[in-house]
Amino acid sequence: MALLSIVLPAYNEEQNIANTAAVLSQILSENGIDYELVFISDGSVDGTFSEILKAAQSNSRIKGAEFSRNFGKEAGIFAGLELAAGDAVVVMDCDLQHPPQAIPQMWKLWQNGAEVVEGVKSSRGRESLGYKLSAGLFYRVMSKLMRMDINASSDFKLLDRKVVNVLLELPERNTFFRALSFWAGFRTETVDYEVQERRYGKSKWSFWSLMKYAVTNVTSFSTLPLQMVTGVGLLFILFSLVLAVQTLVKFAMGTAVEGFTTVILLLLIIGGLLMVSLGIIGHYLARIYEEVKGRPKYIIRRVTENVQGEVIGSWRARERR
Ligand code: UDP
Ligand code: MG
Repeated sequence: MALLSIVLPAYNEEQNIANTAAVLSQILSENGIDYELVFISDGSVDGTFSEILKAAQSNSRIKGAEFSRNFGKEAGIFAGLELAAGDAVVVMDCDLQHPPQAIPQMWKLWQNGAEVVEGVKSSRGRESLGYKLSAGLFYRVMSKLMRMDINASSDFKLLDRKVVNVLLELPERNTFFRALSFWAGFRTETVDYEVQERRYGKSKWSFWSLMKYAVTNVTSFSTLPLQMVTGVGLLFILFSLVLAVQTLVKFAMGTAVEGFTTVILLLLIIGGLLMVSLGIIGHYLARIYEEVKGRPKYIIRRVTENVQGEVIGSWRARERR
């Protein structure tokens, strides 16, 4: 019988673990799906991991690991994919904002041959205006830059074992899970879902963390900003040719001294553009720097008893298979 793994990254979610485990167990066993739950505590500073241990003791289908510090949700997802043993893996938030009722649908599509099942948001749930605007901008820019429509996509998806293995083989440190399943291709189906309200705890995203996330992901997924620097440079060269001709003509006619405003404006504009261009290049340098260091995506400190293999420390980061 095929096994379904559910990967749940959790950062300071002590109030959610027991409830989420119970809800998922019930839905999955009602639907006759053979399952396991993989909780990853992303360096939580509350009782998240002890809740995971408790859950694992009462249900042997539950396993988990804890990071040595907060490595971010992407790292949590990848650790979960690594621990998962299933023939198919669902990744979802552990605050139940991704409705577990959609999982049996995803499972059916998988049984019928889908290799990726994307959860597509039909509504974004209730969010603050600031969050909506910044998230809206984020997805619009990302979709343009990556030439894929990721606006409605989310981290809620089912992946076939083949796809999981492809993602685990990727050598890069900076990953963007949401877009990687598009990038990988495979036979993709979608399931619509409504984002639910968070019952316990609060969202971990702020405006600035979202902006940082956006810049990191744009620069690790697209080189378009670099090409834009070249584009703007070319435009300015054209402009400067026109201006040069005008200046020379004026000089020849003996009326060259006026036009100080133009000089100041040009200096400011070019100075600004140069700084921004340097900044853009700097972001790519930073990405390269991080990748070249080749540090592991995460460090695991503890695991539940039912996790097999050598998993403490920077686990199988480089010498995988
Ligand atoms: N999360 C994580 N590490 C982090 C931040 C968040 O593992 O550094 C987890 C969090 O516990 C939750 C999921 O990622 O299961 C989504 O986070 P959150 O609910 O805060 O985001 P939102 O739903 O508001 O987008
Ligand atoms: Mg949430």
